[in-house]
Amino acid sequence: MKTYRIALIPGDGIGKEVIPAGRELLEALAAAHGALRFEFERFDWGGDHYRAHGAMMPADGLDALRAMDAILFGSAGDPHIPDHITLWGLRLKICQGFDQYANVRPTRILPGIDGPLKRCGPLDLDWVIVRENSEGEYSGVGGRVHPGQPIEAATDVSMMTRAGVQRIMRFAFGLAQSRPRKRLTVVTKSNAQRHAMVMWDEIALQVAAEFPDVAWDKELVDACTARMVNRPATLDTLVATNLHADILSDLAAALAGSLGIAPTANLDPERRYPSMFEPIHGSAFDIMGKGWANPIGTFWSIVMLLEHLGEAQAAQRVMQAIEHVTADAALHTRDLGGTATTEQVTRAVCARVGAAALAG
Ligand code: NAD
Ligand code: MN
Repeated sequence: MKTYRIALIPGDGIGKEVIPAGRELLEALAAAHGALRFEFERFDWGGDHYRAHGAMMPADGLDALRAMDAILFGSAGDPHIPDHITLWGLRLKICQGFDQYANVRPTRILPGIDGPLKRCGPLDLDWVIVRENSEGEYSGVGGRVHPGQPIEAATDVSMMTRAGVQRIMRFAFGLAQSRPRKRLTVVTKSNAQRHAMVMWDEIALQVAAEFPDVAWDKELVDACTARMVNRPATLDTLVATNLHADILSDLAAALAGSLGIAPTANLDPERRYPSMFEPIHGSAFDIMGKGWANPIGTFWSIVMLLEHLGEAQAAQRVMQAIEHVTADAALHTRDLGGTATTEQVTRAVCARVGAAALAG
C-alpha cells in the first residue's frame, strides 16, 4: 500500500469548484485501485486569505507544503484584487520557492472534442510545450521611478542565465527524446532581441549535441503561432521562454478545443521539492459559482501528477476515463458547446475509473 500526501490549493473563482472535483477523482481512484492511498491537506489561500490577512498565503506557507508529495492547484485571481498581487503572492511564490523550473503543457484533441482547425485531423495535433518557469521575462527584475510624475519610467528586465537556459534545454531535449517522434522546436526571437535570445539559441545548439537522436529546428515565436495553425503536424515538443510559452500554450489550448481542458505541471525535475499540477485556466469570473466549470483540465493535471509520482498505470486509467467521457457529447460542459455541469462530468469520470478497475 502506497500513501501519497497531496496538498490541495483551490485558490479563487472556479478553482474552488474544480479542485474538490479533483479530490473526488483521486478518492475514486484509490477506492478502485487497492494499492494506492492519498492523504489530503487543504490550504485555503487566495483572495479571501488576502482580505483577512493582507497576504495571499502565510509567510511560512512553503514550509507547510515542503513535506508533500505533490500539490494540486486551482487558480489565483480575484475580481477585487489586482492580478499582479494574486499571481506573485501565491502561484509564483510556490513555483519560484520550489524552483519548479520546467512548466510542461501537453496538448491533444481529445475524442469527441471539436477543435477550431478545420483542416486538422485529431492526430495532427499532439504537442508538449515546455515553458521556462523560473526566470526570463517573469524574473521580477525591474522597477518604477518618479511614480505619477510626467517623467515616470518603468522597466521589466528579462533575466536569462546560462544555467537556467541550459537546464530547461536539457529537460526539453530529454522530453522530446522520450516521445515517439523525437522532435523538438526551439522557439526564439533572436532577430529582435539580440542579447538574451541569442544566448538562448547558442545554448540550444550546444545542448543539442548531447541528444544526437533528437531532430530539432528553430522557429521565431511569431512565425510559430502561424505554424501552429497552418502546419500543426510539423510540431511535437516545443521549448520557449516564460512569456512566449505562456502565450503559445493558451493558443494551443484553444486549438485543442477549450481552455477548460488543458493541463499543466510545474516540475522540479531534480525532485528537491514537491511539484505542482494545475489546469492552465484562471478563475473564470464570468462563470464562477454556477457549477459550469469544466473539470477536465484538472483531471488531466492529475494524470500528470500520477505520472510524476511514478504511478503510470493509474495515470493511464484516469486518462482513459477522461477520453471515454469527452467522447460523449452529452457530457460536454458549456465551454465545449454542451450543457453538462461540473458535477455530472466528475461523476462520469469517477464512475469510469471505478468501472475500468473492475474490467481489469
Ligand atoms: P480564465 O482562464 O479565467 O477565463 C478565460 C475564459 O475561459 C472565460 O470565458 C472562462 O469562463 C473560460 N474558462 C476558463 N476555464 C474554464 C473552465 N474550466 N470551464 C469552462 N470555461 C472556462 O482567464 P482570464 O479571464 O484571463 O482570467 C481571470 C482571472 O484568473 C484573472 O485574475 C487572472 O489573473 C487569473 N488567472 C490565473 C491563472 C492561474 O492561477 N494559473 C491563470 C490564468 C488566469
Ligand atoms: Mn497564462
